[in-house]
Amino acid sequence: MLQYKVAIIGAGPAGYFAAQALQNLANAERSFSIDMIERLPTPWGLVRSGVAPDHPKIKTVSKVFEKIAAEPNFRLFGNIELGSGISLEDLKSRYDAIVIATGSSLGKTLGIPGENLPGSISAADFVPWYNGHPDYVEIDVPLDTDTAIVIGAGNVAMDVARMLALDPTELDVTDTADHAIEAFKKSQVRHVYMSARRGAEHAAFTSPELRELPKLEHTNVIMHQADIAEAIARAGDEPKKDVKSNFDAMQLIAQTSLGEHDRTMEFLFQHTPKEILGTNRVEGVLYSTPKGDVTIKCGLVITAIGYQAVAIDGVPYENGKVINKDGRVADNLYVVGWAKRGPSGVIGTNKSDAAAVVELLLSDLTTPKSAGDITELLTHQIVVTQEDWQRINEAEVLAGEPKGKPRVKEVVKENLLKLGGVI
Ligand SMILES: Cc1cc2nc3c(=O)[nH]c(=O)nc-3n(C[C@H](O)[C@H](O)[C@H](O)COP(=O)(O)OP(=O)(O)OC[C@H]3O[C@@H](n4cnc5c(N)ncnc54)[C@H](O)[C@@H]3O)c2cc1C
Repeated sequence: MLQYKVAIIGAGPAGYFAAQALQNLANAERSFSIDMIERLPTPWGLVRSGVAPDHPKIKTVSKVFEKIAAEPNFRLFGNIELGSGISLEDLKSRYDAIVIATGSSLGKTLGIPGENLPGSISAADFVPWYNGHPDYVEIDVPLDTDTAIVIGAGNVAMDVARMLALDPTELDVTDTADHAIEAFKKSQVRHVYMSARRGAEHAAFTSPELRELPKLEHTNVIMHQADIAEAIARAGDEPKKDVKSNFDAMQLIAQTSLGEHDRTMEFLFQHTPKEILGTNRVEGVLYSTPKGDVTIKCGLVITAIGYQAVAIDGVPYENGKVINKDGRVADNLYVVGWAKRGPSGVIGTNKSDAAAVVELLLSDLTTPKSAGDITELLTHQIVVTQEDWQRINEAEVLAGEPKGKPRVKEVVKENLLKLGGVI
């Protein structure tokens, strides 16, 4: 029996699906010991800190992750960061293969004047703020303005706009961080624009997300009929299936009659931001449009125009992604998920992607060569094991029960470690 040791760095969907693929490939001749290393005391990556709290069904994929983690030969090393707590060099001799699954968490910037004004923030900061990521609790999100603009035309922009525009009482039964629910309840934001640089035919939203907008109970959603008609004309006779499906969903929004709501979410297409205006704080956005320059006043701008990976020492990066060929980075070093592909694809995309990379990893393996154990490196560090994480998980779920929430997230790192019983 050949016994291989594999380290997976990052406990997001891609990391778990890589672990699952390895577990599926174990047989009478070979077995895999899997160590998953995660910088936070909590696993699940963007399923915990990205996916919108009003989409609880999507988060049930975490049950799959927990099943993978419950297998023998799986160990979680939470609260350990590759690059600061331990280095790639430390790991190389101790594992037969290392899989980077660290995602893509830095917001891309527009590179226009005014982007650094107070009141201009990235979705890469705003989303983890409302989702209770310990590193983002202190982000300043000024909601003392009646108008907010979300720049971007993908599902992240849509989540952000919806979170700003919905009635915050709808969040009471979700796992939105308490500090964010409190802030949303005090929010003066009533009009949320979502602006896209190109026409509706190029929007990266997916139709299920568009289709749920007319169902918002307390918010009018405005999509201008002319924008859709022009986009349909530009797309020609045979638009791709997903574009056609988006057009249908957009028509549905445009045809939905508006209610007596004081909250509005409005789509703007062919609006290219030229400058974020303001002196001490955001006061508006200057756009270039086919009809000339237009200024829209607002007190908050959130950019949702993509993500790039945070670099780790010893791992080569280019254009915000780990340099790789089909997931292979170097000898015994692989990459999966958003760190490999960039910020594209839904949770399920990472499953087939990780499985293909693990096949490649398997084809590279010879005889097991690893020596030593990671625990030798961690004698002075606080590790959150799978059992410790389960204690955190149970405590959060229990705290949510009386409030009808799936969980109440603990957002302070030290308190998470206390819940886990490790300090
Ligand atoms: C705002 C938002 C909403 C989304 N909503 C949906 C949705 O509704 N449905 C859907 O299917 N998909 C959604 N997605 C996409 C989905 O979240 C991604 O496809 C998926 O999370 C990518 O998985 P990953 O494992 O590559 O990265 P991540 O989920 O980001 O996981 C990476 C993990 O690595 C850890 N890590 C990072 N650096 C280190 C380090 N140096 N050492 C150790 N650990 C480290 C991180 O803490 C994190 O836990 C959404 C994405 C975003 C951004």
